[in-house]
Amino acid sequence: MFNTLSDRLTSVLQNLRGKGRLSEADIDATAREIRVALLEADVALPVVRAFIAKVKERAKGAEVSQALNPAQQVVKIVNEELIGILGGETRRLNLAKNPPTVIMLAGLQGAGKTTLAGKLAKWLRGQGHTPMLVACDLQRPNAVTQLQVVGERAGVPVFAPEPGNGVGDPVDVARRGIDEAKRAQHDVVVVDTAGRLGVDEEMMRQAIDIRAAVQPDEVLFVVDAMIGQDAVNTATAFRDGVGFTGVVLTKLDGDARGGAALSVREVTGQPILFASNGEKLEDFDVFHPDRMASRILGMGDMLTLIEQAEQAFDADQAEAAAVKMGSGRLTLEDFLEQMLTLRKMGPIANLLGMLPGAGQMKDQLANLDEKHLDRVQAIIRGMTPAEREDPKIINASRRLRIANGSGVRVSDVNDLVNRFFEARKMMSQMAGRFGL
Ligand code: GDP
Repeated sequence: MFNTLSDRLTSVLQNLRGKGRLSEADIDATAREIRVALLEADVALPVVRAFIAKVKERAKGAEVSQALNPAQQVVKIVNEELIGILGGETRRLNLAKNPPTVIMLAGLQGAGKTTLAGKLAKWLRGQGHTPMLVACDLQRPNAVTQLQVVGERAGVPVFAPEPGNGVGDPVDVARRGIDEAKRAQHDVVVVDTAGRLGVDEEMMRQAIDIRAAVQPDEVLFVVDAMIGQDAVNTATAFRDGVGFTGVVLTKLDGDARGGAALSVREVTGQPILFASNGEKLEDFDVFHPDRMASRILGMGDMLTLIEQAEQAFDADQAEAAAVKMGSGRLTLEDFLEQMLTLRKMGPIANLLGMLPGAGQMKDQLANLDEKHLDRVQAIIRGMTPAEREDPKIINASRRLRIANGSGVRVSDVNDLVNRFFEARKMMSQMAGRFGL
């Protein structure tokens, strides 16, 4: 998402580099190019107009600065205005003073509501909450089962109508779900509701009825960022219909132009709370306007990277590994553990994509072979604990057994073992040089 926009903006802003002063003509030309880049990214026209007008006005009125050169000043202005249209401050979830906090999900079918319910549940658990899910999508076949599956994966209970009673009444299920949450003392309840392929009156009526019945603290409008300009119309229809207090963008991992993401806050006046970027439960995060803006501007998103790294790494474990590396005692077991830790943070290509300048590397990133990592993982898993601890004992017959057991060629096993020895040697040399 945003790759093209990001490339365009970076190159427009790079053209300003080295200019000692910006004339009005320079600013007008830059504004025009930014305007084209935003329109090509499918950002809604009124949003583009307002954005360009502000950037121009601020750039022309900018004081001569000691600290920043003119190009940097324009970058700063564009960055700040981008943060503005994305909502400014990070908006946190509103939690009820008297639990349970009720969160209702609304949106079209396929927007990613059910998946989001699981992601939200997992994230809430990570924040120390005890969430419960309520299945009120009784429209789509399998929606209830799907919610039960994601609930199980997230490790949270799901309240669903008893099977076999025909299509139940979603309003009744929602009400009973909340009662159950109170009884079982869950502090957050996430209510999944039915969508339709397009906005329709019956769906909206049902959403309105559920909202009235459960009085949610948050109504989150879930929108697929890949649906382009349509997202703005859908968002407006939901705002005027059921109404919502926040937005969740899904499928930000897609390769669409991303204009929906940039328009929906400005058009609906409601903040974006979360963003989803993949099908797995952990492909989900709080939405930070400032970080998203810097990602769009191609400045990288170091903050998200650091935060994710902190969550994924256990400091003691990391330190123990560092000591081991230095002493040349690193084992394949450590290696596997570190690889799993790194991969917990998401697809490797996503991680690299957050580094500054990664925009230009996207072709290489697309070729990065996750399958190779799977293979390495499978090979190490095919080893006995003794082999992982002391890879020197892995002789020819063991190599053959490991290869057969993990479904790879013997040469793959050789390759891994040899590279491991090389890496271990290099690490202990490096550690020696740095006095670790
Ligand atoms: P619902 O009809 O709104 O409940 O939508 P679902 O949760 O069933 O999601 C529809 C499809 O989109 C499913 O195949 C999900 O796996 C997929 N999906 C949901 N969120 C994301 C996301 O952030 N990225 C990607 N790539 N797929 C997603």
